[in-house]
Amino acid sequence: MARILVIEDNAANMKLAVFLLEQAGHEVFQASDAEEGIRLAREQHPALILMDVQLPGMDGLAATRLLKGDAITRDIKIVALTAFAMRGDREKIEAAGCDGYIAKPIRYQEFLQVVGDAVARAGVALAAT
Ligand code: MN
Repeated sequence: MARILVIEDNAANMKLAVFLLEQAGHEVFQASDAEEGIRLAREQHPALILMDVQLPGMDGLAATRLLKGDAITRDIKIVALTAFAMRGDREKIEAAGCDGYIAKPIRYQEFLQVVGDAVARAGVALAAT
């Protein structure tokens, strides 16, 4: 069980992600844009952020760079939620500082596995400090 922040502007994707995470026993925080997400990340310090890449205003990769550049939030694992699964996007996502990505549409098994791996890595990082 972990504290997980979902930053996603699409209501259907948010609903599905929250449902799957809560079913898996996680505590979930929700933001529909980057600004609100960054505020919640600083305030709640979740173990993991699921970050939609395409957001209104500041996009998810800019938000990731900001969070990874801030001492308060840089140890939070960030997994990108991306609709594009094209060659080159993976590099862009990694260059922004993301710890992994999930391609949309969300497939339950892959989603829960990537989240589980990221939460495990967050736990290891936490235990090492
Ligand atoms: Mn979006």
